[in-house]
Amino acid sequence: MQSRAPAYISLGEAEVRIILLSLPRSGAKRWLAVAPILLGLAFAASAGLFPLARGALRPAAGALAGWRIVVDPGHGGIDGGTNRQGLMEKDIVLDVGLKLAQFLRMQGAQVFLTRDCDMDVTQHYQGPARGRHSQDLGGRVQFTARVKGDLMVSLHVNSSSDPATRGPSIYYGTRNPHSRRLAELIYEELGEVHTRRSRFAIWPGRGLYVPSRVEVPMALVELAYISSPADRQLLTDENFRYQAALAIGRGIARFCAGMGRRTPAGTNPGPTAFRSS
Ligand SMILES: [Zn+2]
Repeated sequence: MQSRAPAYISLGEAEVRIILLSLPRSGAKRWLAVAPILLGLAFAASAGLFPLARGALRPAAGALAGWRIVVDPGHGGIDGGTNRQGLMEKDIVLDVGLKLAQFLRMQGAQVFLTRDCDMDVTQHYQGPARGRHSQDLGGRVQFTARVKGDLMVSLHVNSSSDPATRGPSIYYGTRNPHSRRLAELIYEELGEVHTRRSRFAIWPGRGLYVPSRVEVPMALVELAYISSPADRQLLTDENFRYQAALAIGRGIARFCAGMGRRTPAGTNPGPTAFRSS
């Protein structure tokens, strides 16, 4: 059974910023100018005048209330991930991760970032001493279990020896049967903000440390190829980063709506209790 998808106001964050930047700078004047806009928006929203559309920023109600979502920007600190011409994976995925977290929180989700600054995640690891890299990856898996995350999304950037290879690709977690659905929905949304899709878009993350160990629905998103000049241009573009974050957020929101359940935060009965969409 499918739940109804949440309704959104289709005003992009960039558009909101443009409106605000075009207003008078001084305090009183600015508010005088903003007030009619806010009243108009409130009226239009209450009258249901906004279409259900992509580019969504804000739900009509907290569509993700009760969901505990782990956002995991890959790499960090000493581990830069892949890089080209001074552009580093760890910086891109942190930026997109923070934007994604903001979007999810605005929809009522409780968001847990494995990192929110330029550091690795070894501090989340508990257990016998291992190499830094193993502790970093183990920390991401343990963190997700410790905060009782209902689902997890890891963010990465891809690289290839072929500069023509482009587009998003996603590895889904192999321990939870709903991971593939989560990956498909994110891919559908993310594919819309790319001009071209990757040929090998969705894979089971069998050989990958985090996707093969996380118990809840999980997707590892490769945003684009840093080795492709066209994708690299996208990855450096602030607007693309917003659009990518919003697309991933919409995919998550659709997944959660399809699951159709909500228990109070922290009382998630576990992955076996999820209802198939
Ligand atoms: Zn990576």
